[in-house]
Amino acid sequence: MSEKKTVTVTSPLLPPLEEFIPYLKDIWDRKWLTNNGYYHKELEAALCKYLKVPYISLFTNGTLPLMCALQALRITGEVITTPYSFVATTHSLWWNGIKPVFVDIDDKTGNIDPDKIEAAITPKTTAIMPVHVYGKPCDTKRIQEIADKYGLKVIYDAAHAFAVEVNGESVLNAGDMSTLSFHATKVYNTVEGGALICHDEKTKQRIDYLKNFGFAGETTVVAPGINGKMDEIRSAYGLLNLKYVDSAIEARHQVAIKYRKGLKGIPGISYMEDMPGVRHNYSYFPIFVDAEKYGMTRDELYFKMKEQNILGRRYFYPLISEFSTYRGLESAKPELLPNAHKMADSVICLPMHHAISESTINQIVQLINK
Ligand SMILES: *Cc1c(COP(=O)(O)O)cnc(C)c1O
Repeated sequence: MSEKKTVTVTSPLLPPLEEFIPYLKDIWDRKWLTNNGYYHKELEAALCKYLKVPYISLFTNGTLPLMCALQALRITGEVITTPYSFVATTHSLWWNGIKPVFVDIDDKTGNIDPDKIEAAITPKTTAIMPVHVYGKPCDTKRIQEIADKYGLKVIYDAAHAFAVEVNGESVLNAGDMSTLSFHATKVYNTVEGGALICHDEKTKQRIDYLKNFGFAGETTVVAPGINGKMDEIRSAYGLLNLKYVDSAIEARHQVAIKYRKGLKGIPGISYMEDMPGVRHNYSYFPIFVDAEKYGMTRDELYFKMKEQNILGRRYFYPLISEFSTYRGLESAKPELLPNAHKMADSVICLPMHHAISESTINQIVQLINK
């Protein structure tokens, strides 16, 4: 009897172990484990070059840079954001005592709808926090125009947008700041990790103080900072993993091509196409189930896949605005967020990573095609 092996939604990009050992030996020799060490500096420099961004600060995860970006820019009052994301986006506002104001998404991209932002602005609004969902770039030009008109800051949660470019320019250079997550499940990982991207040296300095308790010298604390420093072991791992990320993204691209080919024409199943001029990272492969046309609801398909040990994920269901912390907010009312609810109720992210075999893709496609 053959036991069906589980197909997970993602699989971490791990560098070859034997290549990592010399890095560990070097760290042991240096006896410097954290606090802006050799590999920390090397990784910051390598990522600036790879991502085509001017300044980057490494963090221990992708949530702390969101929290520190808000601190660094002294954001208060209300911030306009999207309910269609991972909870950390809105949690970062809550942890800063900021009121999140949800705005509905565009029904094609899944990103915040710029046309609906202005109506949500009040005298208390100080910033906009959009998300490049699934790595699909937001309409950064429109968002910046609105921000400039009303004097607002823009912080992008770019956790999904590692290496994404629009017309050859990194999407991470949009707005005042962008954050990344290097969690194990993301396109590029440092096991746990994250980063904050800014555009000038002074801001980078302030961020580096904030992620080290606010220390600006041996006896000077300039702000109520936090501990967000990435250690040497993860920095070295990240440096090594960076060598493999381009081939991983290309492998994901091939998976996306095969999924699209296989799923094309199945009534009631839709997926996202590449956007013109965009270098995508293929971080996720969401499909959307139209229950009436498909003859089965999203959840029925989701559980049918699960029975066959194919673990898709319903990213992002439930919406952030549905969680107990946020559902009482005026802007969390479902009738104000119809596109977000529709997408959350129809989405399944199919297994997507650098190492899915063609036969697994075919198996998944056949299952969806009944
Ligand atoms: C993964 C993720 C985060 C949080 O990153 P961690 O590294 O897990 O803290 C934040 N926002 C979005 C949209 C994410 O997908």
